[in-house]
Amino acid sequence: MELTPQTSLLQWYNKNGRHDLPWRTTDNPYHIYVSEIMLQQTQVKTVLERFYFPFLERFPTLLDIAESDLDDVLKMWEGLGYYTRAKNLHHAARQCNGILPDNAHDLMNLSGIGRSTAHAIAAFAYRESLPILDANVKRILHRYFALKERNEKKLWEYAYALFDSSHPFEYNQAMMDVGATVCLAKKPLCEVCPFKESCQGKTDPLTYPDAKAKTRKPIRKRSIIVYQRHSRYALMQRKERFLHGLWGFYETTEIPGGTALGNITQHYSHFTLEANVYLSHEDVEEEFEWFTIEEITQLSLSRADHKVVEFIKKSA
Ligand code: SF4
Repeated sequence: MELTPQTSLLQWYNKNGRHDLPWRTTDNPYHIYVSEIMLQQTQVKTVLERFYFPFLERFPTLLDIAESDLDDVLKMWEGLGYYTRAKNLHHAARQCNGILPDNAHDLMNLSGIGRSTAHAIAAFAYRESLPILDANVKRILHRYFALKERNEKKLWEYAYALFDSSHPFEYNQAMMDVGATVCLAKKPLCEVCPFKESCQGKTDPLTYPDAKAKTRKPIRKRSIIVYQRHSRYALMQRKERFLHGLWGFYETTEIPGGTALGNITQHYSHFTLEANVYLSHEDVEEEFEWFTIEEITQLSLSRADHKVVEFIKKSA
């Protein structure tokens, strides 16, 4: 008897799924929430090896986040990037007073929790019967249903069409695993895929969906000035949306005086920063705070500013 795609997926998952991931062996909604947010733009391996456990050790409950300063949360997020995620986590913890809602509808009212993340938390923590639609699942659906057009609203309809409503936990976890290990972006492994019988796009999977129009990343040329007063250096809290709340050295488009310390290139998701770094003893009136190098290493900084710290250490 021919298996339904859902049964085939379930069987595949039982045999090949990554069952021992720590956020799969718990039904603690907070742990699942943290993992979902961390995994939004970061690979499983990085989250697992460097961030998930230290973060939960520092903030054992969502209430601990709600009662902490944003700076403390950012410090634990340092290196993960996409700091808006940490800011939203902190804001969401305060919005719900440290008690996570127990359904997708209410989860979606919290900062940084979109529909797919709300469905994931609700399906994994509370077994609510809802499909997810993250980047991996989107890719599978585009190929499975041979959909060229990128249309989020329609994709949700297809997500429900393939969904196994009797096994929300296993189905969603299995889709994540197929996306991460089988239906790969550049080299889909159709011959070992649980959907190999029913997938409509398997003869030419790379043609789904239509390619995005390529845009060239802009380059931002800047000078970074490290103002020094005795053994202290000037920093201010960043106001740019994507680095908001981190500490940073002064950045300008002008070419200042001072001693050249070196130059840095830092790639961000939507631009590349190219900056020359200068040390200056000029008297400044900007709203800075002044820190020793030891104190700076306790602050949450962007990767670019960490590179600047290395220049300072070398020049000292
Ligand atoms: S059969 Fe191939 S294209 Fe279709 S879902 Fe599986 S890996 Fe992706």
